[in-house]
Amino acid sequence: MSGRKPPTERPFKTPLDEKMEDDSLNIIKDSSLAAFAEYIKKNNCKNIIVMTGAGISTSADFRTPGTGLYDNLQKYNLPFPEAIFDIRYFKAKPEPFFELSRELFPGTFQPTPCHKFIKALADKGMLLRNYTQNIDMLERIAGIPGDLIVEAHGSFHQATCVGRSVPPIDQPLKETDEAKDEQETEKASDLDDDSSEDDPEAIAEYERLARYTAIPGCGKRYTIEEFKKQVFQRKNPTCECEGLIKPDIVFFGEQLPNNFYNLQATDFDRCDALIVMGTSLKVAPFCELINFVGRQVPRLLINMEQCGDRRMQSQGFDFIGDVQKYRRDAFYQGTCDEGCRRLAKELGFDEFDDVDRLIKFADQLTIQSEATVETKDTVREGENSVAFDTTLKVADALDDVDKLTDGLDAVKL
Ligand SMILES: [Zn+2]
Repeated sequence: MSGRKPPTERPFKTPLDEKMEDDSLNIIKDSSLAAFAEYIKKNNCKNIIVMTGAGISTSADFRTPGTGLYDNLQKYNLPFPEAIFDIRYFKAKPEPFFELSRELFPGTFQPTPCHKFIKALADKGMLLRNYTQNIDMLERIAGIPGDLIVEAHGSFHQATCVGRSVPPIDQPLKETDEAKDEQETEKASDLDDDSSEDDPEAIAEYERLARYTAIPGCGKRYTIEEFKKQVFQRKNPTCECEGLIKPDIVFFGEQLPNNFYNLQATDFDRCDALIVMGTSLKVAPFCELINFVGRQVPRLLINMEQCGDRRMQSQGFDFIGDVQKYRRDAFYQGTCDEGCRRLAKELGFDEFDDVDRLIKFADQLTIQSEATVETKDTVREGENSVAFDTTLKVADALDDVDKLTDGLDAVKL
């Protein structure tokens, strides 16, 4: 190393500089949805993976105070909202989950345009797989073939006997003195009495339930109809072995389904474009999947807010293109339905023209009805109250409404 030359060029190139100089590094030309769609068309992608989260479904979030569901669950005095999906809690105290099942039972909600878009991808032979975090089964209801769906957190499709937990009456509790034992056994026999008011007590109960004696289930499989029948009779769905019957949704403390692990290795190698929708990419291992596609495979995030950009070379998104070698990440900010409609349009999916028009019209009506709450109009009573159960200012729009409801019938999934 002798005599340093004065730098004649910039001492170092950023990934952005490199992309400016070498266009082959730009897999997509910019970070727009249109650029992503252009890639799909140009490369005739047939192995698209779609990853979906709660944002694609319209189901109310049970954790939101003020919603009926949340209020219904208050009486159970959950130690924390997620306890409802905690397997140990469930086995000792299944009532809150069964209540939730009644409220959220598949069929209560309808597939969205976003689900319909994924179905369209499947129909056109472009969908390799839909990995979903959702348990509402709207993918299946939308008609996406079951073998193209990986329900990462399980689903209500089937149910299984998982056993139950019972108070350890015969065995003294560990790590507690006799007096406390006595008190707790007394409380345990009084499980259904939700007299506890405050959180510390709820948490104490949670800890107590977690120490119950687990009786394993026999693993018998049940159809969802059998589960549904019992749960709607306000019974705790129970197996002939006395075990509790639980839908195959993944609770905290349970393994993810086998096909989540079995399929991902080959799927993500084959994937030629990745669409991520309605998830904040916070729950592992689901959120890690975006890293498993090839480095040059374009990825699109459709979400209300940007997420998953970790500013790392080999992990997460790089929407700006200033960290990773290739520019391949696009972001669309908005609802999943709107993002899908735009993507469908860019891709030239004809069947979406109608839906697009109908939904735009529905949006207009909703805006009008919100702006002027004047005339109450029961547009075709009992029929398709979708978005129109409120008030409509426009009496002269009734013809259009007829067309619209007919149209909605036509596209009903
Ligand atoms: Zn059983």
